[in-house]
Amino acid sequence: MKIKLIKEQRKTIALKVVDSENAILKAPKSISDKKIEEFLKSKANWLNRVTKRMKETEQFSTAFDFEKFIYLDGKQFISTNEISIGFEKLSAKNKWEEIRKYYLSLFWKLEELADKLSKETGLKFKEIKPSNSVRVWGSYNSKGQMKLNFKLLVLPERLIRYVIYHELCHSIHMNHKPQFWKDLEKLCPNYKALKKELSQFSFVLKTAF
Ligand SMILES: [Zn+2]
Repeated sequence: MKIKLIKEQRKTIALKVVDSENAILKAPKSISDKKIEEFLKSKANWLNRVTKRMKETEQFSTAFDFEKFIYLDGKQFISTNEISIGFEKLSAKNKWEEIRKYYLSLFWKLEELADKLSKETGLKFKEIKPSNSVRVWGSYNSKGQMKLNFKLLVLPERLIRYVIYHELCHSIHMNHKPQFWKDLEKLCPNYKALKKELSQFSFVLKTAF
């Protein structure tokens, strides 16, 4: 762990973890080495916890090959080489364009699952549309329009189901108040664990194409 010390015009000490290897410590100009040492000692447990979690996420995201499609509980669905001939010869921009087209061509799989879960739960939507948001996996508006991010196709099915249940639940509650989560729990009893698991995939969501 490397901690970079920046002494500057300030009154408080602040420690910021950049990644699993680096942190920045900002401190007042007049601070003594002893004070810094004491501060770091008092924050040692916190620092360990945060860097451990970061390391796990880093390892997870480097192990995850985004260009290989993983669908339905981690089974590799198709590799990018199958998308188009000479895929490797395409420029990065065109490659992502192809990937996007490919995802869109599979959107019907999400539609099918959404229809199935809608029938199962009796919760309805009027229209379903694909989105490529870098912010949300899905949305549901007051007109009954549900949007599902086509990047969901990369995820294990249990997480796709969670997102669809979540959006369907918005047909009863247009908010995230406690009653929303209570009703969601009835549809999807282990939603808390799934929500947490989904957050691991935020790097997929943030990938823009
Ligand atoms: Zn929501």
